[in-house]
Amino acid sequence: MIIVTKKGVTQDQLDHIRERIESLGLRTHMSRGESRTVIGCLGDESLLEHVPLLSIPGVEAVHQVLKPYKLASREFSPEPTEVPLGDTAIGGNELVVIAGPCSVEPGDMLSSTARHIRAAGARALRGGAFKPRSSPYSFQGMAEDGLKMLADVRSETGLPIVTEVMDTRQVDLVASYADVLQIGARNMQNFSLLTEVGRLRRPVLLKRGMSATLKDLLLAAEYIMSQGNSDVILCERGIRTFTTETRNTFDLAAIPVLKRETHLPVIADPSHAGGRRHLVAPLSYAAIAAGADGLIVEVHPDPETATSDGDQSLDFAEFDAFMDGLRPFVVAVKRGLAARA
Ligand code: PEP
Ligand code: MN
Repeated sequence: MIIVTKKGVTQDQLDHIRERIESLGLRTHMSRGESRTVIGCLGDESLLEHVPLLSIPGVEAVHQVLKPYKLASREFSPEPTEVPLGDTAIGGNELVVIAGPCSVEPGDMLSSTARHIRAAGARALRGGAFKPRSSPYSFQGMAEDGLKMLADVRSETGLPIVTEVMDTRQVDLVASYADVLQIGARNMQNFSLLTEVGRLRRPVLLKRGMSATLKDLLLAAEYIMSQGNSDVILCERGIRTFTTETRNTFDLAAIPVLKRETHLPVIADPSHAGGRRHLVAPLSYAAIAAGADGLIVEVHPDPETATSDGDQSLDFAEFDAFMDGLRPFVVAVKRGLAARA
């Protein structure tokens, strides 16, 4: 922590600042300028976390040197974290593709989608049973019936399932079915929910909030990790900007920035970022080049009839072509991709 004093700070004020910091258990290092003094505080910065330093007379500004997130930071764990997912892991050499419908729907669509995506090389099935819809009049998901369908399809295909949990009251229920719990963009700063999933020993897919900075995202991950669950997968899914031609704005640079800041795996969601099916492939190529560890993509047997997000969902033939199109990019970054069955 670095404290910069006000112009014309008095010696009494400097002595008081130094005594205050030292009384909290840190050492100080003074660097006197013409009119200001810079005070370096050496030692355990966390001791200063809740001290209102700006209210000490003579203090102009306080700069944090260490990252506010600790467990999620690269410094804390220089080796990349690999989060287990079925027969593979996210964060290792393999580029892992998770695919499936936006929402679980009645009938055999889930089973047919799972069989299809698995044959094409996807490693996990996504599908929402609890849906965070912007309008209360839109389809809200099949709830526990949808979770049961996901579990049945897992038994049939062996694919692990990724599904969203929206509320602390649903955590135990969703965790009794899901292999990975998804926290949606709208819930990224639902701190009670983050704390609850942090108590589980189950991987969490944490999607970036629409207006969240990367620091906000990493602090949300830190909430989960601070409870003892370090299997967190971060997901860039586009943010809100003034652009209207795409559903969101895909923040490509977020991927290399996050890869540098954290040891946690980072995946991209080109479906929600672009909002149109023709954008899914190009955004995915870019994400792979930028260092993404995986992709989560919406696939529906008949997008025209999808209960949610049909415009951005690939049909089966499009998904096959999509997977084939990824291969040269995966090779270029020296990673692997599961083979087509
Ligand atoms: C979803 O994955 O279908 C979803 C609702 O995503 P997000 O939370 O990123 O909007
Ligand atoms: Mn969706």
